[in-house]
Amino acid sequence: MSRLIQVAVPLPLQDSFTYSVPDDWAERVGLGARVRVPFGRRKLIGYVVGFPETTSLETVREAEELHDEPPLLTPKLVELAQWIASYYACSWGEALRAALPSGARRQRGKPRGRNAEMATGTGLLEAAPPHALNRWQSAVLTSVQARIEAGGYEAFLLHGVTGSGKTEVYIHAVRAALARGRAAVLLIPEIALTPQAADRFRARLGAELGILHSGMTLAERHDVLVAAANGEIQVVLGARSAVFAPFRNLGLIVVDEEQEPSYKQNEKPRYHARSVALMRGSLEGAAVLLGSATPSLESYNNASSGKHALLQIPERVDERPLARVHVVDMREEEDRNAVFSQRLLDALAVRLERREQSILLLNRRGHSNYVQCCGCGELVRCPFCDISLTYHSVGHALRCHYCDHGRPVPKECPGCGNPCQVFRGLGTQRVEQDLGGLFPAARIRRMDLDTTSRRGAHREILAAFAAREVDILVGTQMVAKGHDFPGVTLVGVIQADAGLSLPDFRAAERTFQLLTQVAGRAGRGEQPGDVYIQTLCPDHYAIARAAAQDYGAFFEREAELRRSLAYPPFARLLGITGMAANRPRLSQTMQRLAGRLRGSWSQQGVKVLGPAVSPIPRIRGRFREQILLKGGLAPEAKRALLEAVADCGRAAPGVDFQVDVDPVNML
Ligand code: ADP
Ligand code: ZN
Repeated sequence: MSRLIQVAVPLPLQDSFTYSVPDDWAERVGLGARVRVPFGRRKLIGYVVGFPETTSLETVREAEELHDEPPLLTPKLVELAQWIASYYACSWGEALRAALPSGARRQRGKPRGRNAEMATGTGLLEAAPPHALNRWQSAVLTSVQARIEAGGYEAFLLHGVTGSGKTEVYIHAVRAALARGRAAVLLIPEIALTPQAADRFRARLGAELGILHSGMTLAERHDVLVAAANGEIQVVLGARSAVFAPFRNLGLIVVDEEQEPSYKQNEKPRYHARSVALMRGSLEGAAVLLGSATPSLESYNNASSGKHALLQIPERVDERPLARVHVVDMREEEDRNAVFSQRLLDALAVRLERREQSILLLNRRGHSNYVQCCGCGELVRCPFCDISLTYHSVGHALRCHYCDHGRPVPKECPGCGNPCQVFRGLGTQRVEQDLGGLFPAARIRRMDLDTTSRRGAHREILAAFAAREVDILVGTQMVAKGHDFPGVTLVGVIQADAGLSLPDFRAAERTFQLLTQVAGRAGRGEQPGDVYIQTLCPDHYAIARAAAQDYGAFFEREAELRRSLAYPPFARLLGITGMAANRPRLSQTMQRLAGRLRGSWSQQGVKVLGPAVSPIPRIRGRFREQILLKGGLAPEAKRALLEAVADCGRAAPGVDFQVDVDPVNML
């Protein structure tokens, strides 16, 4: 009898399937290889997950083609995908597809130009020559290195203040792994947002480094994976999916800015790269180093309970002081809705005079985030999504920030016909525009989703800022990321409380993180920095603790709240969102599902909340309702849940579901 393979296919099916292998590649097919197989009347790309000796099936179909030789998934990655499937409630094949997309193949006839695009210089590097580690950095390295030398799994949380030199520590830790003949994976939230960090790693790790980023084609990614699988490179740097780099001798995984929400994948399988990194580390016997100036509640709690080893760098390199933070209470300004307080304007004027640089943060893009009728008070809303449209002065149009629907500004109110419209709510365009009026000689650039949609745009703006061709950089949370610009001595935050009112239990945590991170951009060079935080609620603990740059106090307060309300990290959440164009059918289906789940689990300490209308009730014309489960579910319970969802789905055509384990985006 010919050789048999067990194949997992990327469909929402719990089973894997048995195929026979044609003789000409029977000897060459390895575990984790992709194969093309007939499936019903279709052809699918599946993943080899086993080699059964026999089968009870009467007829076994034959696999058609072998894609990978050697496989681009190691046996450990196949096992890791199985864990992802059981934990994140998807099929094994779907998890494998996240690890290795079915379309990632070698370009025919094209020479391998690995990362050619990334190798171009940008002038972003000047600020960062190699450094000898200071005593704090050395102590951290010693701990991590000891684990790498000894081998085996251990998780570390490096809590180092902004500008404490964490990147330098990562580079040394990677070198320590390489010196032991082991490979390393470096995860960063999004390469395009922080080209500087990528440049620094490239300059210091050179030929051994492969980079994966979202701007690459599948074929380019494929080349990097092949190089990793063949041992041509020993280090892979990339966002989320780089956690699946096919090294066989992994010694270290670094997760930089471990608190970043972008580590959570927003489509099936909805895995969190930090959790996957920890699981991979334990499967492979590798050290995992999570790093942040503002750790997630989850990770810091794990460090407090001893699950992760806590490493700390409490001061900046060269004993540089953290920036001085001033909270500006906008209720005391003449106009509490003013864009700029007098103190911030004065501080900006001084910087311009001294030729120092400033960063202004307002975490909302566009010009005005709603247009309101003076007569009836109606807002102009998106016809497909239940939210107000944002006015964009560029193009003088209204746009929906959920579906990108655009329309001209109405001449009169669609409701009452009144011709008078007022523009309310600030966005970055308005800040840029007002700033230009106040400081006509200043060189101002804006960095937000609208100015960076073009490939390479981030890099260009940041390079101009690094070259001091820009005096003031205005932007959304993009400007708060890990940039290292020594010329920046002033950071201003406009409407620091903007995110606090979001219906998300992490709203305070996100605000604290954003403010601490952006404050960390000031005073990184020789000159000390100042930060002005404008707010209408200066006493809110997220703002007050960020102003004091006191992570410990913030954590205490936030942890107490989470514990009392049974939110993560003290309880597990699972979200089910239902979506349908037909609202009554959606509501009925969600009611039925919630009833069924309550019947199964209420006794077992799992709370079933809802269904409730989602915070954004409609997106792209489809209504949304959600059910939230509080309390951990075992893998079997998750399988049962998927079945319940599938049953309800079959009974209600047109209703779609998303099942999200450990949800990060609560909106
Ligand atoms: P973090 O990631 O902790 O915010 P970075 O790694 O960006 O900090 O380091 C901040 C700056 O300090 C960088 O310009 C870096 O080159 C520099 N630096 C790192 N380590 C040292 C050191 N031991 N001595 C002096 N400067 C250092
Ligand atoms: Zn819309």
